[in-house]
Amino acid sequence: MPSNIELIARLAHIDEKLDDMHAELGDLPKLVKKLEEKLRQQMRLVQETKKALEDLAHYRTTMRARQQELNEKEAKLNELQFSGQIRNNREFDALTHEIEFIRAERLRIEQELAQNTIKEENLKGLLERQQADVEETQRELQEREEELNQRSTEQDNEFRQLQTERKAIIEQLSAEWYAEYERIRTYHPDAAVHVRKGSCSGCFSALPAQVLVEMRNHPERMFVCEHCGRILYPEHYRIEEEEII
Ligand SMILES: [Zn+2]
Repeated sequence: MPSNIELIARLAHIDEKLDDMHAELGDLPKLVKKLEEKLRQQMRLVQETKKALEDLAHYRTTMRARQQELNEKEAKLNELQFSGQIRNNREFDALTHEIEFIRAERLRIEQELAQNTIKEENLKGLLERQQADVEETQRELQEREEELNQRSTEQDNEFRQLQTERKAIIEQLSAEWYAEYERIRTYHPDAAVHVRKGSCSGCFSALPAQVLVEMRNHPERMFVCEHCGRILYPEHYRIEEEEII
């Protein structure tokens, strides 16, 4: 049966891999959420531009009807003016004045319609750019979602395997050691580290020679770094990548 210190070394290695897996996936779901939000905003802009274009089209239809109305009114007034029904100058002047008013109104509408055409062209250009943005974000989002799904599936197998190994280790490890390990892990994710050239590999401070001797003489005891509080284990218990799975 492996010693507690050996089990701690294995546990530390497994937890490091699990932490890495979490970190690796960690950014991707966040990125997908961000892209989803970006897409929503971009689609909202597209809707706004479409609405503005609809409003312009509606305005143009209204103004065209108004133009038609003014044309008919002017034709009638012209007819009236020269129909011989006008009795005096005052009436004639009033008619002239009314016709001038209609012409001014029509000119104003023509100018506005010309401006609207420019506005419409600009909005159409804007809409094209906005729709291109939406398509680009949709593509990126789809890629990221596929990546996330693929990675989750790949990781699932490894994750389950590591969890199984972790459970097996904990079953053999003394409860006190495990409790201490988890306690340290709340502030040091790498709660157990190996001794490297007489130093703690967690905080790199040199360990007193006496501690090194005691570690050799008492492999059953738990030693923690006085400086950082991490559990120390001898370098030969350090697990290389290919050994674990
Ligand atoms: Zn240390």
